[in-house]
Amino acid sequence: MKATKQLLDEIIELSPQAEKIIVQPASSLLHVPVSLQGETDLEPLLKNALAFAEEKLDEIVSLKAVFGSAAVPSLFTENEQSLNALSAAPVRNRLNVRSQVEQALQQPAERQNEFDVRRVKQEQKWQLPLLPTTTIGSFPQTKEVRSARQKWRKGEWSTEQYDQYIQSEIDKWIRIQEEIGLDVLVHGEFERTDMVEFFGEKLPGFAFTRGGWVQSYGTRCVKPPIIYGDVEFGQPMTVKETEYAQTLTQKPVKGMLTGPITILNWSFVRTDIPRKYVAYQIALALREEVEALERAGIEMIQVDEPALREGLPLKREEWQEYLDWAVNAFRISTSSVQDTTQIHTHMCYCEFQDIIDSIQALDADVISIETSRSHGELISSFEEQTYPLGIGLGVYDIHSPRVPSKEEMLSLIERALEVLDPQLFWINPDCGLKTRGQEETVAALSHMVSAAETYREKVTSNSLKVK
Ligand code: GLN
Ligand code: ZN
Repeated sequence: MKATKQLLDEIIELSPQAEKIIVQPASSLLHVPVSLQGETDLEPLLKNALAFAEEKLDEIVSLKAVFGSAAVPSLFTENEQSLNALSAAPVRNRLNVRSQVEQALQQPAERQNEFDVRRVKQEQKWQLPLLPTTTIGSFPQTKEVRSARQKWRKGEWSTEQYDQYIQSEIDKWIRIQEEIGLDVLVHGEFERTDMVEFFGEKLPGFAFTRGGWVQSYGTRCVKPPIIYGDVEFGQPMTVKETEYAQTLTQKPVKGMLTGPITILNWSFVRTDIPRKYVAYQIALALREEVEALERAGIEMIQVDEPALREGLPLKREEWQEYLDWAVNAFRISTSSVQDTTQIHTHMCYCEFQDIIDSIQALDADVISIETSRSHGELISSFEEQTYPLGIGLGVYDIHSPRVPSKEEMLSLIERALEVLDPQLFWINPDCGLKTRGQEETVAALSHMVSAAETYREKVTSNSLKVK
């Protein structure tokens, strides 16, 4: 606030008509939560250094009160003290984290071998059919799942009871996926409220609000976590559920993590160090999670980056710098694994054509990407430049309850395979199925699997004919 007062004083000095100056926030208050008042769980160290919409308005009023005078209101001095206390706090100055980041940046974040070498090893290990089928991670978060979590949060259910319930959902959906005939399964993400909040709750350096809601789009709201300290790995976050799911099936279960850039872009981020360093800290913490999954025998791991594109700076000349560090952060998280471990990533909500080189530079063995809503625009862009790694183009829109027919999906697949290599192609929906109901999910996925089977049969009978 002191800095704002100084700025205001300068403006007053330069302005010929000081009385016409209007003081207002720099951006719409839509982007901050309403008030700090109900945040009784926030540590005072952090709370005192924050300002949500109401507090920002109070600050403006105090600024006006000292307009043109040298007086410094107490709110300003208190504010300065709070900010100083926060910057001196141990949580913001973890030397071990800082030096791990420096160390990681000394060498390029690269897999042991290039994709061509990994691909051969992975084919041998995984023995998947042509056009393997999979999903993006989440299965329906029904009313029952949400109410189980509420009961546990309120203390009506013990952790044991809640864990058991989550396990029973995993049991059910592993069974369903096997019945449908999917090739790579997922545990279903029933334990997660939100793909960013879940990880933030488990990573030191993050804080949570009770009512810090902001608009996401339309009537949807999110409660972004606050990254206020140096972020580091605490304990495994996803191993328990994934490992459990893997005990139930012979098919591979894909581990499921949210990537460093998506966690960064969907949180409130401290501004005292560059964003890219916060991204690297998260990336290193996630690397430990990736390694923990690998050690637990989960050797297909998806690291979701749906928010990669939305972090692009407004000025186009700044894009490349952002993309370079974003790609590097992803690679820090994912490059320390064995050649046979298959890294997947997933993206949605955006056009990809203009950042396709950076997407490729992520060096993920497989990417699943939303396409069904953009009506094949992405597919045509592969006519000019094909994609040389594993890729699954979403074959149906998960935002609608409509169950698409097998024929519709088959024609999308055939269109895509005019420009992409069938040996590298995966079949999956556009995004997670969290918002869908069970019945429509099962029906749509069954059609999807039978579209893949029909394509495989066509290929086999054609090759028999050629012989
Ligand atoms: N794995 C997440 C899910 O399935 C991905 C969500 C997303 O891309 N927004 O829900
Ligand atoms: Zn998605």
